[in-house]
Amino acid sequence: MYLKEDSRGEDVKTVQEILKKLGYNPGPVDGWYGQKTENAVICFQEEHNLYGDGIIGPNTWQSLHQALAIHIEEQINPQAENDGQTGLMNWVRVPADPYRDGYDRFFLREDAAQAYMRVYEKVQEAGGKLTSSGARRSLQAAVSPSRSATSFHYTGRALDLFVGSSMENRALDPFVVSSDGDRYWRVFVRADGGKPMEIEAVTYGSRKNGKLVNDRFLDLTSLFKAEGFERIRARRSFFNNGTWLGAEWWHFQYEKGLKKGVSTFGGELLKVYTEDQVRPMPPWQYRARVFGVNWF
Ligand SMILES: [Zn+2]
Repeated sequence: MYLKEDSRGEDVKTVQEILKKLGYNPGPVDGWYGQKTENAVICFQEEHNLYGDGIIGPNTWQSLHQALAIHIEEQINPQAENDGQTGLMNWVRVPADPYRDGYDRFFLREDAAQAYMRVYEKVQEAGGKLTSSGARRSLQAAVSPSRSATSFHYTGRALDLFVGSSMENRALDPFVVSSDGDRYWRVFVRADGGKPMEIEAVTYGSRKNGKLVNDRFLDLTSLFKAEGFERIRARRSFFNNGTWLGAEWWHFQYEKGLKKGVSTFGGELLKVYTEDQVRPMPPWQYRARVFGVNWF
């Protein structure tokens, strides 16, 4: 069986339903394999170590069903993944606020999840939104130029706010991003319960501080920092008219407990996976990288 762009029928509908449950956006569940469905299939394939051609053959079909089975298992018992394996931290499912194609939940290791929840509750209380593009990255996910081999996402210590929730529409986006010098950003959440502020907002088009936005905001960067989450810098390429995927304003990583020059990438992987689980996986070859030296 092969499904590809312009295919129609019940099988396409099934694929769309599965993709939706897994947090992808295939467009309407209408049994028509349009552009949105194809994009969602490519994303799924790339995250599951499959050739990202947007065509559903037997391998992709099987992977979709396996991923669905894992997803259902997680929903029934979301915190049970590491139970019984003493010494490992749990992966904890935490909520996010759905916005456009963003997710309504994601996974962090337990200490990062608790810290995130304290931030989430403050934002909720003020009437703001915290969106998500996901957090945990599968150990099987292929390493590519846009994906660091030693990403904090593998270790359960990083989260991404929904990439499409700022830098587009200053008047409506849930977040406003302002340049903070040296390729760093400061992220503000629009919230009725926030403080009145005037912020110089950056857009993808301008790539630097531009129009002033007056509204009520919470300083999300400070809220995250108080709980141990640090921001990262935009890639240099972003400022040379590179793709907006280099902006990285959405990425926050939990650095609490890490010692510069001492903590290793491998050591952090082993806090959430057994050695048997990580040894065959691509990230394990970078296990010797050291935090603050060659692992950021
Ligand atoms: Zn990220």
